[in-house]
Amino acid sequence: MREITHFIDGAAVTGTSGRFGDIFNPNTGEVQARVALATTGELDAAVASALRAHQTWALVNPQRRARVMFDFKRLVEANMNELAEMLSSEHGKVIADSKGDIQRGLEVIEFACGIPHALKGEYTEGAGPGIDVYSMRQPLGVCAGITPFNFPAMIPMWMFGIAIAVGNTFILKPSEKDPSVPVRLGELMMEAGAPKGVLNVVHGDKVSVDAILDHPDIKAVSFVGSSDIAHYVYSRGTAAGKRVQAMGGAKNHGIVMPDADIDQAVKDISGAAFGSAGERCMALPVVVPVGARTAEIFREKMLAEIETLKVGVSTDASAQYGPVVTAAHRQKISDYIQMGQDEGAELVVDGRGFALQGYEKGFFIGPTLFDHVKTEMRTYQEEIFGPVLQIARVESFEEAVALPSAHQYGNGVAIFTRNGRAAREFASQVQVGMVGINVPIPVPVAYHSFGGWKRSAFGDTNQHGMEGVRFYTKVKTITARWPDGATEDSAFVIPTMK
Ligand code: NAD
Repeated sequence: MREITHFIDGAAVTGTSGRFGDIFNPNTGEVQARVALATTGELDAAVASALRAHQTWALVNPQRRARVMFDFKRLVEANMNELAEMLSSEHGKVIADSKGDIQRGLEVIEFACGIPHALKGEYTEGAGPGIDVYSMRQPLGVCAGITPFNFPAMIPMWMFGIAIAVGNTFILKPSEKDPSVPVRLGELMMEAGAPKGVLNVVHGDKVSVDAILDHPDIKAVSFVGSSDIAHYVYSRGTAAGKRVQAMGGAKNHGIVMPDADIDQAVKDISGAAFGSAGERCMALPVVVPVGARTAEIFREKMLAEIETLKVGVSTDASAQYGPVVTAAHRQKISDYIQMGQDEGAELVVDGRGFALQGYEKGFFIGPTLFDHVKTEMRTYQEEIFGPVLQIARVESFEEAVALPSAHQYGNGVAIFTRNGRAAREFASQVQVGMVGINVPIPVPVAYHSFGGWKRSAFGDTNQHGMEGVRFYTKVKTITARWPDGATEDSAFVIPTMK
């Protein structure tokens, strides 16, 4: 059985724990490889390597660090096809979507290529007599990232791209479900000129996550995954004195106003609900049509749209989406569909019976549509993370604002309307971190920042953009005085500005 190794101190390291995770081919259901789950000792070795590397990497000037990012970007682009195939073969998303996953990560690398500008700091000349004040941003040291299965390229690059560009060294603990692309990214960083130890990839489960959270030499931890684990990581990491940002789950709503271009909204919501089999934290699994007429028209058109969808293997260029990541995850989605039916929602389209000829053991699930979903239902309150679209009807704009605002998650939301005033009011009032106006998946561009509200994110700092730079650096402020030579009296009161 092929074994996926750690990448520590610039070399492949075979795991010694004797514990392994299965890597499936979601198209066929077969186990295609296994990944070694790290021991605490292996994590310690990665931290020691990162600590050594930090002593010199932090002193490399920002422009030279940026050049490594430029070269890394070129290398990832040159290897795009190989990386996308690798990603799809473990995750199950279609190749074009895997390329999107990699490309969105590269956009953060492009931002990191401009890191000298982001690190310039501030300067005040003449803050007092002969006194100048300036501030600088310095790296933290060794930082770590713990990432989910659903974006095995983009989310690691969100984290290490900025962390390394500002002068930190990094331990990446990727999802144990699809770990091959993160290892390849580590190799490509070295090829791009990052010295060994600047980026280490350690695979694992709770054992390595706890070792990261408790390690005294790791100064900051960035986490993306489900909310309960995010909360756990945030609590344990901050209790150990670390800086922690922990992004969690989501249940994003798409509001369809009566004046919306419904044909376009159906296309947009179909892509956002079913793309990547719904395994996106910025998927749009709840649609909220305003008014009965809007709901009826939307439902009819969405039904027609669903009939056109093609579910296929991840290598099928004509398929809109592929299998989900594991059989266990498919079972969880099926259980939620059953629960929705038991709770009294109307199951309009049931994707559970879907099977692909020749791939009967693959982890496929067809597009599923529920109508008349109510807020008290568990299937409304919880994240399903599958190709399941729920229609929750409301009568007014106020109700449409209230639904996502009251939900436990607050990652993303979208409104479809032609009315600028309604869109503006919605964006202002809704209690959600990322808002789309006629944009179904409002993932901010790399130079803005990504982050939800409520149980979708713990901690104060978002991912990437200047928020990312702030997360991975600490500010030092220097007050410098160059006196004119005359001796001044001692001051026993706090100095103030005269
Ligand atoms: P997950 O929480 O199961 O795993 C995330 C990471 O935590 C993995 O590296 C995993 O190894 C580790 N982990 C799992 N169980 C653990 C435990 N008990 N103790 C310590 N560490 C543990 O999430 P997933 O299934 O890989 O990813 C899907 C989830 O991620 C969804 O909830 C999705 O909404 C969320 N997500 C959120 C964002 C965001 O930015 N808000 C982005 C992508 C995905």
